[in-house]
Amino acid sequence: MKLNKKYQKILSLIHEEALFSKNGCIKLLYHTQNLEKSSFVCTYHLVKTFSFSSSDILCFISLLSREGVLNKKYKIKCRKCQKWSKEVFNSIVEVEGYEKCGNCGKAVIMDMESLKYVGILFQKTRNFNYGI
Ligand SMILES: [Zn+2]
Repeated sequence: MKLNKKYQKILSLIHEEALFSKNGCIKLLYHTQNLEKSSFVCTYHLVKTFSFSSSDILCFISLLSREGVLNKKYKIKCRKCQKWSKEVFNSIVEVEGYEKCGNCGKAVIMDMESLKYVGILFQKTRNFNYGI
């Protein structure tokens, strides 16, 4: 298996910017390259699977976001039932438009505390199979 052009570029950025002290970043890149389009990247899973520190993984995720591989998305947790919304939002403005919990039906309160209940996800934008 080979890294396609996009991921080779990211690998060279990792080296140039000396983002990682460890050498496991190629495995991490293969993993991301193999993910289906639109799937979500779980930072916790990456930390566990690849034994990188959380700060290395966050660094990796922000590089992938900068390179257009990942897109930031949001979910909101209901204060009543403590479940995450099934809906995934593209922006905080969209989160504000979420009025009723899809799990328990309670009204969603928007106030100063709301940000505590917003979760950030990272979704793969595309596969870059043809190299860019
Ligand atoms: Zn609820």
